[in-house]
Amino acid sequence: MAKRDYYEVLGVSRDATEEDIKKAYRRLALKYHPDKNPGSKEAEEKFKEATEAYEVLKDPQKRSTYDQFGHAGLSGAGGFGGFDFSTFDLSDALRAFMRDFGSFGSVFNEFFGSTPTGTQRRYQKGRDLQIRLKLTLEEIATGVEKKIKLKRLQKCTECDGTGVAKGSLKKICPKCQGAGQIRRVSRSLFGQFVNVSTCDYCDGEGMVVDSPCPICRGDGRVKGISTISVKIPAGVTSGNYIQLRGAGNAGPRGGPSGDVVVLIEELEHPTFRRRGDDIMFETLISFTQAALGDEITVPTLDGKVNLKIPPGTQSGRIFRLKGKGIPRLHGYGRGDELIRVLVWVPTRLSSEEKRLLKELASMENMKPQEKDKSFFEKLRETLGL
Ligand SMILES: [Zn+2]
Ligand SMILES: [Zn+2]
Repeated sequence: MAKRDYYEVLGVSRDATEEDIKKAYRRLALKYHPDKNPGSKEAEEKFKEATEAYEVLKDPQKRSTYDQFGHAGLSGAGGFGGFDFSTFDLSDALRAFMRDFGSFGSVFNEFFGSTPTGTQRRYQKGRDLQIRLKLTLEEIATGVEKKIKLKRLQKCTECDGTGVAKGSLKKICPKCQGAGQIRRVSRSLFGQFVNVSTCDYCDGEGMVVDSPCPICRGDGRVKGISTISVKIPAGVTSGNYIQLRGAGNAGPRGGPSGDVVVLIEELEHPTFRRRGDDIMFETLISFTQAALGDEITVPTLDGKVNLKIPPGTQSGRIFRLKGKGIPRLHGYGRGDELIRVLVWVPTRLSSEEKRLLKELASMENMKPQEKDKSFFEKLRETLGL
C-alpha cells in the first residue's frame, strides 16, 4: 500500500507549527487508540499511520529530510539506511504516544477503563549527534559509502547498560511505587482533578539503583569511539541531511539511542563549478582553432571526452554535453556539462607572426560586419544574462 503524505495524514498544512502538529496528532491518537477501539484493525492502522507521521513531522531534522526527499528519504532505499519506518510497528507507536503524552495517557486510561501498569518505565533517549561530511563532486556524482569515526556514549558492558552493580538489584522506586509519576487528586466544586507530575526521586524511571555499577557510575553508558558507515546517494548537495536512526549516544540505563545526523558539505572542485544538477567548465582555444574548427579534449566527471569545435566558433560559446552532469536526487537521469570556450589572444608575437597577422588583417573577412553585431544578443541568450 502506498504511503500517504504525512501532512495529509495529520490534516495539517506544510507550514504547520510544531504545536499544530502535536495538536493534530493528539486528536487522531485519541480517536484511534487501540484501547478505545479494541480489536479494530482499521483503527490500529490509523493509529500507527498518525504516529509515524507525527514522529517525522515533530522532529525538525526528520521533517526537513521528508520535505526534501519525501518518503524515499525515510526508507532504507536510496542510502538513507537506519531511518527506516518500514519496521515501525504498533508497539513503537504506543511507546511514542506514551513518551510524549505520558500524563495525558494516564488520564486517557482512566477514561477508557484499562488498568495502568504499576511498573511502567519511561526510558530516556540518548542525544542526537551531528557530524559534517565533506564530499568531492566526484563522490557526489557516483554516490559513496563513507566510514566515519564517532565519539559517542555506548552501552556499558560491565552492567549491560543497566547501571546496576553486579550482584545488586534495581528496586521499584519507593516514592512513586514504580509508576514514574506522582498523581495528586483534588476535588473542587467543578469535580475531580488529577494532577500528574514526573517523580523527582527516580526521574520518572520508576526504578532506583541500590548500588550503582562502578564502571559507568550508574549511568549505564561509557565513552567510546566507533566507526559507523553511511551511504550517500548520488546527487546530494550542501545542506542535505542524512539521519541514521539509533546511531547516536546510547540512552541512560538502557534507554534507546539517539540518532546521528550527517550534514552534507560539498567541497569546491578545482575544475568544475556546479549549478544545480549541471556542471560548468571553461576552456581556452586559439584564434585559429576558433576560425578553422578543431577537436579538443575536455574533462568530464567520467573522464576525458572529445569535443568538436566547429569552424567559426565565437568566443564565449557554450557547448552542452548531455547527461554529463550530476545525477538527479529526486528523479532519473543526470544534468549536463556546460563547456564555455573563450578565444585566447596571443600576448607576445615575433616579427614574423606580426607580419602574417598584419597581412591577414587587411583581408575582407577578418573584420566583424554590422550583421555580426547580433552575435552579442545570441551570446547573452546562451549565457542567460
Ligand atoms: Zn519514582
Ligand atoms: Zn556500568
